[in-house]
Amino acid sequence: MRLKRIQSGAFAGPNNGRWKGGRYTNKGYVFVRIGVGKYRLEHLVVAEQKLGRALKRGEVVHHVNMDTTDNRPENLTICSQLAHMRIHFEYGCVLSRLLKHEELVAINERIVNEVDLRKIDVR
Ligand SMILES: [Zn+2]
Repeated sequence: MRLKRIQSGAFAGPNNGRWKGGRYTNKGYVFVRIGVGKYRLEHLVVAEQKLGRALKRGEVVHHVNMDTTDNRPENLTICSQLAHMRIHFEYGCVLSRLLKHEELVAINERIVNEVDLRKIDVR
């Protein structure tokens, strides 16, 4: 019993201070309860809901405003690793705070168009 309590970690249930009805934050990321004792990164769950399908291998979910706890659908961009690198190259945490959310969305869309969507069109 004692061992089990240790294994189940600090977020085992409602007795934990950070318990918020099946949601907790760890190292800047939000985890959400998806089943008995099962948790998943919330931004992946939201991204899949937004896409209407499971994420594919190599697909990366980027937080538009760089706030990894902000998992609103409009704050998530699904892109390739290359596009993700370009997005981070284009703006970082500091710049993301200076730009408006819609400006950040526009940057994300442009890069996804340039890097990911073009790849599909060109053969
Ligand atoms: Zn990112």
